[in-house]
Amino acid sequence: MFTRYPLSVHYHRVLLQNPTRNYATRVEPTFLNWKNIALGGGIFTVLLYTYLGTLQRKTISPEEFVPLTITQISPVNHNTSVFRLKFPTSFEEPLPTVSCFHIKDDLIQIMREYTPVSPSNEKHHIDFLIKRYDHGHMSRYIHSKKEGETLEVRGPFVSFPYTTNMKTHVGMICGGTGITPMYQIIDHICRNSVDKTKIYLIYANVAKQDILLFQELEQLSREHPDQLHIYYTLEKLPEGESWTQGIGYVTKEMVKNNIPGPQQDVLLLVCGPDEMVKHVSGEKARDLSQGPIGGLLGNIGYTQDQVFKF
Ligand SMILES: Cc1cc2nc3c(=O)[nH]c(=O)nc-3n(C[C@H](O)[C@H](O)[C@H](O)COP(=O)(O)OP(=O)(O)OC[C@H]3O[C@@H](n4cnc5c(N)ncnc54)[C@H](O)[C@@H]3O)c2cc1C
Repeated sequence: MFTRYPLSVHYHRVLLQNPTRNYATRVEPTFLNWKNIALGGGIFTVLLYTYLGTLQRKTISPEEFVPLTITQISPVNHNTSVFRLKFPTSFEEPLPTVSCFHIKDDLIQIMREYTPVSPSNEKHHIDFLIKRYDHGHMSRYIHSKKEGETLEVRGPFVSFPYTTNMKTHVGMICGGTGITPMYQIIDHICRNSVDKTKIYLIYANVAKQDILLFQELEQLSREHPDQLHIYYTLEKLPEGESWTQGIGYVTKEMVKNNIPGPQQDVLLLVCGPDEMVKHVSGEKARDLSQGPIGGLLGNIGYTQDQVFKF
């Protein structure tokens, strides 16, 4: 004899006897199965990872300092090295010309400006050519860093808004690391076949081994002989080598012989140590505005709208 049970009781008994078995008639819970739990967990992990990733890999911007890893330090002479810093995420927009960045040292709360020398369309890293001064806070701090460590950087900022063919002639007078903004413009013009600007660079240094970006400048002047004219002047002449270019500080004659005069469609850019800027073009004002044109350029007759001091 079979005991007769109501259907629900029968189903319950079967379940108790075969707890793992599935039945076609059984209603499946739609969310709480292992497949969905695993899928949900996977999505959650991906979202969490992405969120944490964006926290750690902030894009470089002028608004805030971001730690950038130093991937390579390449010495170029006894006191100057190129520091290659990796962008946290690829940087798609080309950098403006001329751009500069701020680097800070949190410990003593200081910040200085630096001009990249890598091509403006480089997406993955940025190169800074940085000279170490024996009594310089920031430059010593940066030079104390090792590959794999980070520097706090923000930018880019536009230090001079160069535009294609803005002048027929651009004269540049610089000393030491003052070459970095000039190099950005030179590189920009030489890469752009539409830009027909002629460049006249006077580059002053103590000794020949102090000439920064020498190979790069020489190569560009070989490739663009009609567009780029370079004149070097040195305080100390190279030993055992003939030197046919300038000797000593920049003079009025050097400027007159190597850069088009004030009557032309010309722009003069000046960058270097304060003393040099004062000697060449008159110093910048205390509030860092341009100040009146003086020095050699004032003496030759260049006007305020023809000269820019970095
Ligand atoms: C727009 C802009 C772009 C710049 N780009 C670069 C760049 O690409 N590469 C780079 O190396 N620097 C560049 N500089 C200079 C840089 O910002 C710092 O001024 C430099 O690194 C010195 O900082 P410091 O803190 O080490 O020296 P500080 O502590 O400010 O100065 C201490 C001492 O260092 C010496 N010193 C500092 N600067 C000079 C100098 N120019 N000439 C001679 N002696 C000096 C002096 O003895 C001074 O008394 C740029 C500056 C500006 C405004």
